[in-house]
Amino acid sequence: MNPTYNFKGQVALVTGASAGIGLATVRAFAEAGASVVLSDIDEVALRRETDALTAAGHEAIAVTCDVTDEAQVAALVGRTVATYGRLDMAFNNAGIAGPSGDLTDETAEAFDAVNGINLRGVWACMKHELVQMRAQGSGAIVNCSSLGGLVGQARRAAYHGTKHGVIGITKSAAMDYAPRGIRINAVCPGVIDTPMFSALLEKTPDAMKEVTRDQPIGRLGRPDELAASVLWLRSSAASFVIGVALPVDGGFVAH
Ligand code: NAP
Repeated sequence: MNPTYNFKGQVALVTGASAGIGLATVRAFAEAGASVVLSDIDEVALRRETDALTAAGHEAIAVTCDVTDEAQVAALVGRTVATYGRLDMAFNNAGIAGPSGDLTDETAEAFDAVNGINLRGVWACMKHELVQMRAQGSGAIVNCSSLGGLVGQARRAAYHGTKHGVIGITKSAAMDYAPRGIRINAVCPGVIDTPMFSALLEKTPDAMKEVTRDQPIGRLGRPDELAASVLWLRSSAASFVIGVALPVDGGFVAH
C-alpha cells in the first residue's frame, strides 16, 4: 500500500531537484498537494521539470541555485518566502559523487569541490531555512546523506567523509531545534538508479557492481523509494522522529 499525504497549503523546497532522487521527491511533494520550489544548478533541466509540474496543474517555481554559494542559498530561501510566505519542509539533496581513488592521489581542489556541495552546501541550506522556520515556529528538514555516511568504502574517502559530516550536522542541529517545533533528520540512500549512479558505474564499474551486489534486496533502489522516505519523515506520522539517519538501502548496512 502506498501511503498518501495531504500537504495542501504547505511549501516544500528541494535542492538538486532537476534529476534523480531530488526530482522524484519534488514530484511526490507536488502530488501530495504542496507548493514546491525546485532548485538546481542545471538551469535548463530545472526549467523543463518545473514546466512539466505546472503543466500538470501543480504549484511550482524554479530557482537556480549553486549550493556552494551562500548568497545564492540565501536568495533561494528569500524567493521561496517572498512567493509563498512560508517554508514548511526542505530536502537538502544536492550532491556530487566526487573523486574515486586512493586518498593520496586526491587533490585538495577535488576534496573542496565535493565538500563544498555535499557538506557545506547542506550547512548553508540549513542555516537559511532555519532562520525562516524558527520565525514560524514550525518546519521539517531532511538532509541527504548516504550509505556512505554510515560505512566506509575503499577508494571513496572524500565522498564518505562528507556524508558522515551530513549526519553529524543533522543530529546536532536536530537537538537545537527540537524544542522549537522543527524536526531535522537525514536519509541514507543505498545504491539508487539515478544519473549519478550511471556516471559512477561508467568510471568505476567493479566497485559499483560490488556495492550493488551487497544490497541484500538484490536490486538497485528507485528514486521514488527515496522520495517515499522523505515524505514520511516530513509527515505527522513521523512527529516523534528527530535526529535520525535513516538507511533506505535495500539492507546494505544491515550486514
Ligand atoms: P543526480 O542524479 O546527479 O542529481 C543531483 C542533482 O543535483 C543534479 O541535477 C545536479 O546537477 C545537482 N547539483 C549538482 N551540484 C549542485 C550544486 N552545486 N548546487 C545545486 N545543485 C547541484 O544525483 P542523485 O543520485 O539523485 O543524488 C542525490 C543525492 O543523493 C546526493 O546528495 C547523493 O550524494 C545522494 N546519494 C545518491 C545515491 C545514488 O546511488 N544515486 C546513493 C547515496 C546517496 P548537475 O547534473 O548539473 O550536476
